[in-house]
Amino acid sequence: MSRSAVWHPFTQHATEPVPPTIVRTEGAYVETSDGKRILDAISSWWVVTHGHRHPKIVSAIRNATETLDQVIFAGLTHEPAEQLASALADMTPAGLDWVFYSDSGSTSVEVALKMALGFHRNNGDARTRIVVMEHSYHGDTIGTMSVGARGVFNAAYDPLLFEVDTIPFPEAGREQETLDSFEALSRDGKAAALILEPLVLGAGGMLMYPARVLTELKRIAERSGTLLIADEVMTGWGRTGTMFACERASVSPDILCTSKGLTGGSVPLAATLATEAVFRAHFSIDRAKTFFHSSSYTANPIACAAALANVAIWRDEPVAERVVALTRMQSEKVARFIGDPRFENIRTTGTIAALDLRVGKAGYLAEVGPKLRAFFLERGLLVRPLGNVIYVLPPYCVTSGELDRLYGAVDEAADLAGRAA
Ligand code: PMP
Repeated sequence: MSRSAVWHPFTQHATEPVPPTIVRTEGAYVETSDGKRILDAISSWWVVTHGHRHPKIVSAIRNATETLDQVIFAGLTHEPAEQLASALADMTPAGLDWVFYSDSGSTSVEVALKMALGFHRNNGDARTRIVVMEHSYHGDTIGTMSVGARGVFNAAYDPLLFEVDTIPFPEAGREQETLDSFEALSRDGKAAALILEPLVLGAGGMLMYPARVLTELKRIAERSGTLLIADEVMTGWGRTGTMFACERASVSPDILCTSKGLTGGSVPLAATLATEAVFRAHFSIDRAKTFFHSSSYTANPIACAAALANVAIWRDEPVAERVVALTRMQSEKVARFIGDPRFENIRTTGTIAALDLRVGKAGYLAEVGPKLRAFFLERGLLVRPLGNVIYVLPPYCVTSGELDRLYGAVDEAADLAGRAA
């Protein structure tokens, strides 16, 4: 067969160009088969934290393959999983003492939702409703789409999605509406859990809200017996300035989802952390109260070894300092666009910067997105706007000079977008 047999994710094969073939990755760059080096300004869908192929992660993976490969994780255990679970329980907000492994951000969220429902059912409580935040994204499986924003991405599957209760996104100056809405929902005795992305809603448009809103939501949840699920799949591992975004709000959720940066972006792994109370609800001589969930590759030892190397990098290298430096650089660099009539909503949280192009109503289906992508790629930059939202979410090894080049291209791109709209 001469043509490619690959069906790519989130790709309209009828109109999008044949993608470049990547033959090598290193640091902040991916390299194409024709020798072009492309700056990975989105950390390859937000997974690569330290840079591609960090030598300590590469060697941990290599070493792990010398002794272990997949082992069934029900009825057996292994050291990489045990050590990693202890490390995660230590590093995450207080009280998250139990670690359940899976393979992707979506599965970590599915697990969290199942844990929340199981918690209430096993405790004899009839709570089954999930409360979600407007504009959220938690994955593309049926369950995670159900708790995410509805729109063009999931219109075809709508009949399969379950009903949820939605609280408004805390727009600046209207945060109280979000709190009041949750307060009302949490009073009806049906809310099993509130799931949210702490501080930054990623795929919904890099929307940012202040930590105090999260603090208040947790207070309401606690008072009403509603569990708080923090989806830190994107925000974890330093992205928002602290190891986990919940720390910024001094919040310990009941359940926390992590993936992406968990292995430094090298191999797939995810974990759902839960409190003793959530675990205890599933700990019973009644076998019907077992947590019934698994996937074949749960706690893959190679992936756990990669994650342990990531944890060691955070411990042994000045990663926290790099995050602080990148945080400062990001806000300094985007400052050049403040007051520029071509942009609005210029914002940063930690290492993430985003700005909206003023191009009228530019949803995901607008032409401007693919045009911008191609424009950046021609300049050796991997940038993937969300509609009219340009965001920069680079690996922590990115340099000031590289960011200057990138934001220079953003400046040029604004003119192109104006013409394309
Ligand atoms: N939750 C959030 C907040 C995410 O950003 C993502 C992925 N972008 C997911 C869940 C789903 O993760 P995955 O793509 O690994 O299934």
